[in-house]
Amino acid sequence: MAFTKKTVRDIDVDGKRVLVRVDFNVPIADGVVGDTTRISAALPTIKYLVEHNARVILMSHLGRPTGDGPQPELSLAPVAKKLAEMSGLDVQFVDDTYGDKATAAVNALQPGHVLVLENVRFDKREKKNDPEIAKKLASYGDVFVLDAFGTAHRAQGSVVGPAAYIPAVAGFLLEKEVDTLTGIFADPARPFVAIVGGSKVSSKIGVLDHLIDSADTLIIGGGMAYTFFLAKGYTVGTSLQEPDWVDRAKEMMEKAEKKGVKLLLPIDNIVADHFGEDATGETVDSDKIPADRMGMDIGPKTEALYAEAIAGAKTVFWNGPMGVFEMDQFAHGTKAVAEAVADNAGCTSIIGGGDSVAAVNKFGLADKMSWISTGGGASMELVEGKALPGVEALLDA
Ligand code: ADP
Ligand code: MG
Repeated sequence: MAFTKKTVRDIDVDGKRVLVRVDFNVPIADGVVGDTTRISAALPTIKYLVEHNARVILMSHLGRPTGDGPQPELSLAPVAKKLAEMSGLDVQFVDDTYGDKATAAVNALQPGHVLVLENVRFDKREKKNDPEIAKKLASYGDVFVLDAFGTAHRAQGSVVGPAAYIPAVAGFLLEKEVDTLTGIFADPARPFVAIVGGSKVSSKIGVLDHLIDSADTLIIGGGMAYTFFLAKGYTVGTSLQEPDWVDRAKEMMEKAEKKGVKLLLPIDNIVADHFGEDATGETVDSDKIPADRMGMDIGPKTEALYAEAIAGAKTVFWNGPMGVFEMDQFAHGTKAVAEAVADNAGCTSIIGGGDSVAAVNKFGLADKMSWISTGGGASMELVEGKALPGVEALLDA
């Protein structure tokens, strides 16, 4: 619907060398892959290419190498092994990315087989989008497929580079992510309820601004609520607050009002006397936060108010926890919202953002959601209405 680029479906891959940028940036400890979500998410494209007899060359970054050469603890070797296990495919690995060894491995690759190159970030030139890197990578493929949604917002060598030299199209994950996250602005089923939480107004202002253009109801929670309270003239004690952003928060409230968007703020809060695992909470109304208390979570009346709004939604987009969910005593509000979304079986529910996704996983509700984005930064940029450099570089459909 909203996706305007060519995909793997639009090109002939039979016998071709297909260079695919995937996002295999998975957690690894002692050579063992932890969460495999990102590998699973890349499987549809990889399997499609293998089934269509392509020679599949995969590349990714992993972690944050210094860029001065190989770092064994950040090798993609364990990921290649995990991919073989999970897919049942013939997967080879080469401990080289830009050198003769990689070239030789690519040249030896047979149709229907998969080759994983070493971490693209072992060379500094990758992040600088150096043309030498781009040319070298492009030389491995007849076509380029971008499926690394999680890095599609970064104009780096392996993300945007090959598109300058060989035909470049999207993989299925990238297509689905972009389609889903831009679809909420194009043609959402209504009512469309957007929920934004997390820590700061300053980091979410673009998200709030763009969501007000599309949503029917905007629910605010998390630390950013306290800057909104300041905008309403409440005092917020020692809560997280950004005095420099009060005017922007006011602007958002005015914009919502003008556009007929219902903006919901917490009516009560769980507050504590300090920020810590041993802190205990008490419930106070939003206009009565004591001077020596900080807001840590939304309160029970707010949970009920938000759950009611969510229950009536046909589309829900959620980014940002309602409270300091990492501490169990302040996770209740986030859990209540997650449950309200999960209970609304008839709505399309889209979750984006690293911590929000972690929260939904923590509560075991992931499979109740329609779509959980695999990209933190990339999904936020889409929701801010920005174009992703990786997607821009692809052929138009
Ligand atoms: P996401 O990764 O989903 O985009 P953010 O990174 O914006 O979310 O925000 C997540 C962080 O916000 C969490 O670490 C959480 O503890 C914090 N947070 C939520 N509510 C509060 C609060 N009331 N005070 C301080 N921090 C908060
Ligand atoms: Mg975060």
